[in-house]
Amino acid sequence: MQKFQQYIDGAFTDGAAQFESRDPATGRTWAIMPEARADDVNAAVEAAAAAFMSQEWSGMTASARGKLLFRLADLIAQNAQSLAELETRDTGKIIRETSAQIAYVAEYYRYYAGLADKIEGAHLPIDKPDMEVWLRREPVGVVAAIVPWNSQLFLSAVKIGPALAAGCTIVLKASEEGPAPLLEFARIFDQAGFPKGVLNVITGFGADCGTILTTHPKIDHIAFTGGPETARHIVRNSAENLASTSLELGGKSPFIVFDDADVGSAVNAQISGIFAATGQSCVAGSRLIVANTIKDRFLDRLKEKAEAIVIGAPDDMTTEVGPLCTRGQLDTAISLIAASVDQGAVVITGGHPLECEGNYFPPTIIDCTDAPDAPCLRHEFFGPVLSVLGFDTEAQALEIANDTPFGLASGVFTKDLARAHRMIRGLDAGIVWVNTYRAVSPIAPFGGSGLSGQGREGGLQAALDYTKVKSVWLRT
Ligand code: NAD
Repeated sequence: MQKFQQYIDGAFTDGAAQFESRDPATGRTWAIMPEARADDVNAAVEAAAAAFMSQEWSGMTASARGKLLFRLADLIAQNAQSLAELETRDTGKIIRETSAQIAYVAEYYRYYAGLADKIEGAHLPIDKPDMEVWLRREPVGVVAAIVPWNSQLFLSAVKIGPALAAGCTIVLKASEEGPAPLLEFARIFDQAGFPKGVLNVITGFGADCGTILTTHPKIDHIAFTGGPETARHIVRNSAENLASTSLELGGKSPFIVFDDADVGSAVNAQISGIFAATGQSCVAGSRLIVANTIKDRFLDRLKEKAEAIVIGAPDDMTTEVGPLCTRGQLDTAISLIAASVDQGAVVITGGHPLECEGNYFPPTIIDCTDAPDAPCLRHEFFGPVLSVLGFDTEAQALEIANDTPFGLASGVFTKDLARAHRMIRGLDAGIVWVNTYRAVSPIAPFGGSGLSGQGREGGLQAALDYTKVKSVWLRT
């Protein structure tokens, strides 16, 4: 059985304890993972704090930091296949997607490598002739980065890239579900030649090692991606050390289709919008809001495409939908669908787990016309389940779209430019995709509001968010 180690202060060690990782496609144990307990967490934070204090990293020229990040990006690209295979093995995310995603993980590191020497301060033209005043941007310090199991390489890249570019040091906590890709990433990071302690990678259970990490007095900032309930714990915990927080949380994103839309492209975008990553994606377009005039036609085409999706083993290149990462998600899907059907929702396709080993749930579409308050329209499934409502007017479409405590992503399909602009203004979401869905780029900020969190990842702003401003006054 494969055994993984944690990475603290430039050394690979076993954790204080260990736990078994299961293969989501079979439900069988395939690897042993290190479990960080208090001593490991403290050692990781102390290493990151010492690396920060020594200024070996933060005091390095920005372009030298950038060069190391470029080297890291190259190493990720060289090791793309093994990283993708490990992510597939440990989380069940299909190999087609892990292989494609690792390419843009390297791109994100390249973007922040190039940005390292472009994080500028400012000169302030104050009204005193004998005074020079300027702003320095300095790294915030030691960052606790905490990620969920889905897309761990990507979700950590959007934290590690900007934080290192800014000169911070990091303790990264991988999820207890599927930590293998990040523990392997630590090996690659180690080869890049960063000073020791700059990045430390541990894993373990949230309530234990996550709590010790987020309350540690030497943590200055907590960058978290995960569920809203965990975010509440973390924000409460941050009252201990008064660390700043950035939160990337869940979603229940509207996907709005007007009757003038290009139906073919909207159907395709909706299929990948909800079923990519087997629905385990924070930006999943999980609420279809479609004009009543085209609803039946649209649903017919959607059903046909959903039923043609190839469900299979995650390591098979032909598979389009794989298993859910955990048994818990399967149970959530079953209970949310049952409660919604009780209220009058109608399952158009799917709706039941497959009768086989592993956590397989088929692409599912639920018409909620007779159950507009159904739980499937309110709660995040984190699975391949699409809930549908029709609308008659533009105002109604917007009202339904914004009727959610989440505010992460949204999609609008229409050929009417003026209407598109009205929707862009009206949608309460951090991302609006018009006539497209799921487009990402390192240059474009990413994040939400309400229950979807606060702060942005990606883009220049994310790097600035890992800095603090120092005002300098110099009498001349
Ligand atoms: P989760 O909140 O259960 O766990 C996320 C991480 O937090 C894990 O590493 C876990 O160990 C840790 N954790 C748990 N309790 C903790 C505590 N008390 N203190 C510190 N750390 C703790 O989330 P999950 O189920 O692994 O992931 C799914 C969630 O993540 C969904 O809601 C999804 O929408 C969200 N997500 C958001 C984005 C985004 O960018 N907005 C991206 C992917 C996933």
